Amino acid sequence: MFKGKVFITILMTITFIVSSLFSNNIIISHLHHFSKTTIQSGKEKSNKSIMCNSYPTTQNELKGIDEDINYIRKKYDRKLSPREVFLTFDDGPSPVNTLRILEVLKRYNVKATFFIIGKHADEHPDILKRVKREGMCVAPHTYSHNYKIYRSEKAYFDDYEACNNAIMKITGSDTVSFLRLPGGSTIQVSNKAVMKEIKTRLINNNVKYVDWNVSSADAAMDTVPAALIKNNVISQCKGKNFVVILMHDSNTKTTTVEALPDIIEYLKDNGYAFKTFENVTSTEERQMNKLRIINR
Ligand SMILES: [Zn+2]
Repeated sequence: MFKGKVFITILMTITFIVSSLFSNNIIISHLHHFSKTTIQSGKEKSNKSIMCNSYPTTQNELKGIDEDINYIRKKYDRKLSPREVFLTFDDGPSPVNTLRILEVLKRYNVKATFFIIGKHADEHPDILKRVKREGMCVAPHTYSHNYKIYRSEKAYFDDYEACNNAIMKITGSDTVSFLRLPGGSTIQVSNKAVMKEIKTRLINNNVKYVDWNVSSADAAMDTVPAALIKNNVISQCKGKNFVVILMHDSNTKTTTVEALPDIIEYLKDNGYAFKTFENVTSTEERQMNKLRIINR
């Protein structure tokens, strides 16, 4: 009897030790190790294994998971995709074209950035809401699109604030820290000192102004032939691994929408990853600085 009890007690103790080792620390630390080595080898992208085999409960286990996530974020934040494209549409929302643009983007499952005119957003709030709902990046361009805003720093910032307020009121979201200056950052309608004041204040407020390194030139006249828009984009993308494309979303730009499917197909065929100004990584930001696409 006595020997039997001792045997059962020993057996239970061993079972307890083995099961606790395997259910917690060992598996966690093993997976911890596994996630790092497999990512380094580049063969395994999914890191779900950490989550699904065991349920972390202690502070140490949770900390281990946090470390993994930080490790992955840091690793990928440092890297650019081999090729990246930012599609940008200025001057919307427009009742004629915005929804058509959204439909094309949806068909190809890509996202874009809309640098909007606040006044147009106030006139067509439902269209802007739809842009946001479709997962696009909504960013400020201007409220009035009247170049009088460049007459003084105050006039510029009043207009900029009005545009931001319209975006926040309609979409319910804060705006991103990127904007596009009406006419681009090299516009020469104001005196140089005012323009410098505007740029300095934007930079001091950590707001970055975005130009482009590929122009569709769809603003060259009211309606540019679709074939020409497509050709402008494709010819300028050649030899570039990182592109920010300027296009327009206003009522007359019907041919921009017509050219868009071919442009997207060209970019996809050539391995570009589609990005927006919603989640710009620090590496991408450095790249844009270097290419003089932002804060020029
Ligand atoms: Zn514009």
